Amino acid sequence: LLSYNGSGMSVMELSHRSSWFQQIMDDAEALLRELMNIPSNYQVLFLQGGASLQFSMVPMNLAKNKKIAFVDTGSWSKKAIEEAEKMKDMQVEVIASSKEKNYASVPEIPAVETDIDYLHITTNNTIEGTCYFTAPTTNGVPVVADMSSNILSSEYNVADFGLIYAGAQKNIGPAGLTVVIVREDLIAESLPGLPSMLDYKLQAKNGSMYNTPPTFAIYVAKLVFEWIKELGGVSAIE
Ligand SMILES: *Cc1c(COP(=O)(O)O)cnc(C)c1O
Repeated sequence: LLSYNGSGMSVMELSHRSSWFQQIMDDAEALLRELMNIPSNYQVLFLQGGASLQFSMVPMNLAKNKKIAFVDTGSWSKKAIEEAEKMKDMQVEVIASSKEKNYASVPEIPAVETDIDYLHITTNNTIEGTCYFTAPTTNGVPVVADMSSNILSSEYNVADFGLIYAGAQKNIGPAGLTVVIVREDLIAESLPGLPSMLDYKLQAKNGSMYNTPPTFAIYVAKLVFEWIKELGGVSAIE
């Protein structure tokens, strides 16, 4: 806390452009890649705004045809659906829901139309306590997953997903950091008119440092990644 690595400064005082901090950023990313076995054609982004900002950022970046589908499994998926519905000209379809059962279980996910931009699921329904342990099969349609409350506590095959996001404060570290893992081809072109801070491609190009990242939260996340690795990785945690 008082002197990081002999720098005479706390991580909170270090410039985010310093080599000390760049090393923390690089180590955090490498550790997360190792823990989740993230393929090299995926970008790992350290952003802000919480999982709740991803409810808007995902459709803003990935909904090229403005046609997206959701599975409604509880409070958080409901919020994700509501945010997507606010977007101009967005076609939002709920293809499965367990609302009738008061969200006591998760529904079977039916086959999706192949002209949708993506299918959104919530892997762990934090409030309801229900879970999808594997990704649905979607015939090539990217699956977007909100993993806020079970990232790094359940094993998933990252390659089964187009994009994974999680607010860090539940399973990773302090509030203020949001992790996004996204397949590169999905962000090859930014959609027109995107604000810079909400543009995955720009964030990736800048190594999540288009502006000042939440440096201390990233540092603590790195320590947690090291701790999980020492314990034996995600399978040991699970
Ligand atoms: C807590 C939670 C959120 C909201 O996270 P914020 O980072 O506070 O926006 C979203 N989705 C799930 C599944 C959650 O558990």
